[in-house]
Amino acid sequence: MEKDKNWKLKTKIVRAAHYGCPQTGSIAPPIYQAVNFKVDNVDDGADRCRNFDNGYIYTRLGSPTQTLLEAKMAELENGEAALAFTTGVAAITATLMCILKQGDHVVADGTVYSATNYFLSNLMTDYGIETTFVDCSNPDNVKKAVKENTKIIYFETPANPTVKLVDLKEMAAIGKSRGIMTIVDSTFGSPYLQRPLDFGIDVVIHSATKYIGGHGDVMGGIVIGKKDLMDAIRDKTLKNLGGVISPFDAWLLFRGLKTLHLRMQRHCENAMEVAKFLEGHPKVERVFYPGLPSHPQHELASKQMDDFGGMIAFELKGGFEAGKTLMNNVKLCWLAVSLGDVDTLIQHPASMTHVYIPQEEKLKAGITDGLVRLSVGVEDAEDLIKDLEQALEITK
Ligand SMILES: *Cc1c(COP(=O)(O)O)cnc(C)c1O
Repeated sequence: MEKDKNWKLKTKIVRAAHYGCPQTGSIAPPIYQAVNFKVDNVDDGADRCRNFDNGYIYTRLGSPTQTLLEAKMAELENGEAALAFTTGVAAITATLMCILKQGDHVVADGTVYSATNYFLSNLMTDYGIETTFVDCSNPDNVKKAVKENTKIIYFETPANPTVKLVDLKEMAAIGKSRGIMTIVDSTFGSPYLQRPLDFGIDVVIHSATKYIGGHGDVMGGIVIGKKDLMDAIRDKTLKNLGGVISPFDAWLLFRGLKTLHLRMQRHCENAMEVAKFLEGHPKVERVFYPGLPSHPQHELASKQMDDFGGMIAFELKGGFEAGKTLMNNVKLCWLAVSLGDVDTLIQHPASMTHVYIPQEEKLKAGITDGLVRLSVGVEDAEDLIKDLEQALEITK
């Protein structure tokens, strides 16, 4: 199927890189569940080993099913090329390790995914790479933290778990004026809600485990950016650290992607209704949802996002104990980590994911005792509200 450059996003979500099977005409793409690819002669073998563009050779470098997923994600993000990994964390670490060298410096947002934070603050320091963590929602903090040897500005928007936003255009401008690469983890947004490369950001990363797959049954990670950089990552850290996606997982993500717009639309509608309900509830101190006018960055959200997403954070007046009671009494919402699933998932960072993190660090990342993170699914919003209402009833 010839690609039509004028396709709108929803058509691209369904059809981009969707070629079917060239041999049989099957519309669903084949799964090339293979490790080895026969080469024609030694020269051909050498060519393929030298440059992946010359053909497949061994699935750790890439496979045909993976290529479909990469091509689709590159198109959806308006990027030159993409790479698919076995998890989001594999995508993040392979990207950072490819770019950074001993003596380099990173400016990162204080609110980044826990594994990203650990990688930068505990692992990379062993290799002579330092990170300064700041609140990137104020661009002045980033400008002040930049040093002579700063190589990367790294952040999430919206950020996990507080749903804080960072201004994509501002970050791109700071990076461009100083020759620093900007990398955004856009997992909470998905290409349906925001396309950071259009704002001048250099690299977009997704935990495809979340909205890309959307069904809580497959893990994956995607990196999108310039072809040169994607080639370098494939050659250096994908091939040699080994975090490549499996053909079947690539196929599942490719399939999940086809309904991204339908799922996201419902996630957004439901989240807006649930956020309004929570904002009006007497036991709720504050709701963080970019779609609410009360969100401090509502205006920025309207500028850089097409809709406001499915992630809500809210603060319970009753603090830590209230958080635990709410968690232990929801019936329809699953008490579970992860997010971006068609099922609604709820969790309480202070008593669950962040229980081992010192209080001071938690507060720096905006994680207070009563903070609850809600990944609103695609069920009927009325049922979700009823469930939260009955559990809040019991909560002090
Ligand atoms: C889940 C998540 C990750 C990590 O992805 P995995 O697929 O679990 O490795 C990274 N960033 C964000 C924002 C996430 O939500």
